[in-house]
Amino acid sequence: MQPGRKTRSPLWVSTPAMASIPGNRDLTERLTSVYIQTYGCQMNIADSRTVETILLDAGYRLVDTPEAAKVILVNTCAVRESAQTRALGQISSLSRLKTQNGTRVIGVLGCIPQEMREALAHERPFLDLVVGPDDYRQLPYLIEERLASPPGEPARIATLLRRSELYDDIPPHHRGGVTAFVTITRGCDKFCSYCVVPYTRGRERSRPLPSIVAEAEKLVGKGAREIMLLGQNVDAYEWEDNGFPDCLKAVASVDGLERVRFLTSHPQDTGQDLFDVMAADAKICPYLHLPVQSGSNRILEMMNRGYTRERYLEIIGAAKRTVPGLAFSTDIIVGFPSETERDFEETLDLVHQVRFDTAFMFRYSPRPRTKAARLTDDVPEAEKIRRLEKLISLQLKIGREQNLKQLGRVDDVLIEGISPKNNDMWIGRTPDHRPVVFSQNGEMPGQVVAVKLAELRGFTFVGLRA
Ligand code: SAM
Ligand code: SF4
Repeated sequence: MQPGRKTRSPLWVSTPAMASIPGNRDLTERLTSVYIQTYGCQMNIADSRTVETILLDAGYRLVDTPEAAKVILVNTCAVRESAQTRALGQISSLSRLKTQNGTRVIGVLGCIPQEMREALAHERPFLDLVVGPDDYRQLPYLIEERLASPPGEPARIATLLRRSELYDDIPPHHRGGVTAFVTITRGCDKFCSYCVVPYTRGRERSRPLPSIVAEAEKLVGKGAREIMLLGQNVDAYEWEDNGFPDCLKAVASVDGLERVRFLTSHPQDTGQDLFDVMAADAKICPYLHLPVQSGSNRILEMMNRGYTRERYLEIIGAAKRTVPGLAFSTDIIVGFPSETERDFEETLDLVHQVRFDTAFMFRYSPRPRTKAARLTDDVPEAEKIRRLEKLISLQLKIGREQNLKQLGRVDDVLIEGISPKNNDMWIGRTPDHRPVVFSQNGEMPGQVVAVKLAELRGFTFVGLRA
């Protein structure tokens, strides 16, 4: 065991508080320091918070820079090739820190380990740990073992996908802040033909509802005012007789909570039950992220999405009719194998019809083991870029028009913190997730203030107290 390393004992549990007690500084500094860098979506951020709890409970302390850390962990995303390339570049650059200090432990977590396993460790021999998303509980033991073993040993690889792993008993570490993430489902069973998630995160499973509510209560107790419920497909949530609308209702009833949001919905599983619950409870934010991926029925079928553009538009229509002021966002992929100009035009047409407030738009990239990876990736890269640019510029125009329509409206803004561009202003969001800056007047983050949306600068509103 390294000097200063401790397994869990009551003395070592409350690391951050100890640091603030004069005289305890030495004690704190003797705890092994960990830096976690996170790539990818909110689900990955939530996973990193779970890892933080596991490590804090095991007696580690978190630091803010890789240079200051004895243990460096990079939590990765493999959904798109570009995300993977970025994370791999960062991992490779860490070899420098290993050269500086050979006893440092460097580990890769998340989807890339699940995807590349031995290749990752083989091509980067300085790595100590390669750990998939269902093996985080083992991290303290793996790190401990690594710290105790001589340098130069091959990396420890832990990449079992575990159907029962929900990390249900491990509350994510809340770093403060107004918003907290709560994961309600893990994995995905949809097998969209382009998507690596079912292979890297395993089968879909739902957490018991009481533990979700208890976690939300705990987070509110620690100062969170907004809970974001997370899952690759939240609409697939199923526990005993409860579906996602029941889960949403239950979390919204937590005392002291201002707002509940959720990500991501799937057009195959979402519907009127959800919209009715959203309309009935003011705490549930009027915002729906409903990925469409393509406006062409032929491409949707090849993607194995399980709906047509007509069905998608029907769902959007029902949602708009049921939930007043509902904002929409979506995900779209351009350049899927065999996508013609006509298919692409159908996507543009759908975007025109729905008028999304926001969209996340991507170029198709083939992912290993997926069904689509067996198709010829026949849309040339330059053409994918052209289509993506055209789609983005259409969506930016529509997004701006949607925002301009909000000018003059008075709405409740939940203060998130100080505006990064002007320290005299707050930045917060409306219930439909529009960012607003406005002057400070003795409030605190987490408070809700009625604000008139007076001006639009870029994609941020300037508000006046109503
Ligand atoms: N579960 C969500 C859903 O049903 O859409 C999203 C999951 S995925 C992590 C986020 C987005 O990445 C997808 O909606 C899709 O637009 C995009 N994506 C996934 N695989 C991709 C690929 N091979 N190439 C380009 N974009 C991809
Ligand atoms: Fe991937 Fe489709 Fe599952 Fe979303 S629903 S995670 S796109 S397989």
